[in-house]
Amino acid sequence: MNKYLNQLVKLSEINKEIDAFEPRIQKVEKSISVAFEKVKNAYDSIELLEVEIKEAKVKKAKNENLLAELSEKLKNIGKKTTAIKSEKEVKALQLEEDIAKEQCDFANEEIARFEKIVELKESEKVKIKELHAEFQKAAEDLSVSMEAEKEAIKNEMADAYGRKDELVGKMSQKILSFYEKIRKWAHNSAVVPVRKQACYGCFMRINDKTNALVTQSEDIVTCPHCGRILYKEAAQS
Ligand SMILES: [Zn+2]
Repeated sequence: MNKYLNQLVKLSEINKEIDAFEPRIQKVEKSISVAFEKVKNAYDSIELLEVEIKEAKVKKAKNENLLAELSEKLKNIGKKTTAIKSEKEVKALQLEEDIAKEQCDFANEEIARFEKIVELKESEKVKIKELHAEFQKAAEDLSVSMEAEKEAIKNEMADAYGRKDELVGKMSQKILSFYEKIRKWAHNSAVVPVRKQACYGCFMRINDKTNALVTQSEDIVTCPHCGRILYKEAAQS
């Protein structure tokens, strides 16, 4: 292969390698943020449960106060009953007593209900706290291993940039600027192989004459359809 073309193929490969680093780093960062998101969600659930537990406890206390008031009221009704004589008054007090007793039953049911809610939410909180600790540990471990992965990517990047600088240093300025001009629009497909007599940039069939020129690879040949630089790959072994 022509020396210049060979350099272009290599440069194009290194550029592809360099462009692949950013998505790899993003993937690493994404996995870390997903792990910490789980930790945060668990924490938020715990906070919500704490609010709900507090609310249920307040409601339970309100019913306990109500129950105390009602029992006081019942005591007073008992006292009044001994003091009155008329049947009408007895009936009225009886009614009052019945209502107060019903209210007592209801308050007792409510207390039991809120107690149950507190109990359930407390046990849920314990479970989520365990999960939270698990997620926290997993996220921290992942963060450590991903830092190592990032470091490895950075080293690979430094290596690729080193190879690129070395190659570019040896290349002709004229050819480099020709390549960069195509790269502006073709990005990483500025240099493409010809397979089955088709340009692997635009996938159009190239004519016999161009194909022969590419096969000889004595010159830098561009695709007559799209303008990308063409080369013939070494025979696959
Ligand atoms: Zn083409």
